[in-house]
Amino acid sequence: MTIEAVQDGPAVYFDGTSSRKRQVMLRLGPSLEIVEDGTLVATWPFDDVRRADGAAGRLRLSCTSASALARLEVDDPATAAALVGRCKALDVDRGGPRQTVRIVFWSAAAIASIVAIVIYGIPILADRLAPLVPRSVEQRMGQAVDMQVRALFGDKVCEEPEGKAAFAKMIEKLRTAGGIDYPLDAHVLPSKVPNAIALPGGKVYLFSALLDKATSPDEIAGVLAHELGHGYHRHHMRSLIHNGGTSFVIGLLLGDITGGSAVIFASRQLLSASHSREAELEADDYANTVMRKLGRSPVPLAELLLRITGEQRKQLGGFNILNSHPLTEDRLALARKHDGPNTGPEILSPAEWEALKAICGTK
Ligand SMILES: [Zn+2]
Repeated sequence: MTIEAVQDGPAVYFDGTSSRKRQVMLRLGPSLEIVEDGTLVATWPFDDVRRADGAAGRLRLSCTSASALARLEVDDPATAAALVGRCKALDVDRGGPRQTVRIVFWSAAAIASIVAIVIYGIPILADRLAPLVPRSVEQRMGQAVDMQVRALFGDKVCEEPEGKAAFAKMIEKLRTAGGIDYPLDAHVLPSKVPNAIALPGGKVYLFSALLDKATSPDEIAGVLAHELGHGYHRHHMRSLIHNGGTSFVIGLLLGDITGGSAVIFASRQLLSASHSREAELEADDYANTVMRKLGRSPVPLAELLLRITGEQRKQLGGFNILNSHPLTEDRLALARKHDGPNTGPEILSPAEWEALKAICGTK
C-alpha cells in the first residue's frame, strides 16, 4: 500500500474550545476532513496543517486556519505517513524566522507594558525594596549566577587541601568580623584575570590571578572584605532591581518560563555588575571597618588594586573588579585615613599563606 493510497484513518481530535477528546476518522480528500460518527466536523486545508509539539512516535497537528488550540493526534503510522506526504508546509515555521519574530513581538509587548512602572517606579523603590527581598530569593539568584560562573570556568575550582583550609580560615574570620550571620560558600577559581566576586546568597569567588599578584594575606583579605561588603549591603539586589528592573518585574509577575529568562538576565547583570560610586564607597567602608576589627590595616587592599591597575588597566576587558572599581588612588587615600598599627594577629600564618597561594596546584 502506498502513501497516496491511504484515504482515511483514525485520529484523536481536540476542537480547541473544549478539552474533550474526540475519536474521529480523517478523510484525506482535497482537504483534510475530520469526521466524527459519520458527520464532517471540520475541514483543514493541507497547506494550513502544521506539526505541533508532542510526544515522540505520535504525530500532533494544528491548523493555521482553525482554532489556535485545535489539535489532531495521529497514532496510526500509515495515516501519519500519508498526512506528512500531503501537508507540504508541515514544518514551515518551526524555529524559523516567523517563530523568532513572534517571540520578539511578545517580549517587546510584555516589556512595553511594564516599562512605565520600571521608569517611574523602580529607581525610587530599588533602595527600599532590596532589603525586603527574601534571602531565599537572593539565594536562588545566587545559584543561577553560580551556575553561569561555574560554566565559565569549566566547573573547575582549586582544591589543594591545605590551601582550602587556609582560605576557609580567612573567610571565616572575615565573616565573623563583618557581622554576617549566614554561612558563606567560598572558592578559588583558576583564572588569569585578577578578580573577586561575592554573589547574592553567600557565594564568594576569588580568582587565582589575584592570589598570584598579592604579596600578603591582608591584601587578599581586604579584597574579600570589600566584596563581602557588597553582599552585606545587598548592592547586587539593588543594582539588579535598578538595571534588571524590567526583566526582574516580569519574572516576579509571570514566574516560570519568563521568570527563568529573567534569572538568566539577572545573572548576566550580576556578573557584569558595576556598582554605583556610593555602593563602592560603602563596600570600602565596610572593608576598612572589618580589617580594623581584625586589627589589620586596610591599606594593602588599595595598594594591591593600585598595583594591578597600574600594570594592567589597558589589557583588561569588562567583567573585572578593576574596571568596576575606578579611582583607586582616592581609595588608597581613604584607606590611609582608617589606617593604624597592626594590633591583631596575622590573618594567616606564613605557612598558611603559602598554602593558599598554591591552592590551584600550579606552583
Ligand atoms: Zn566593589
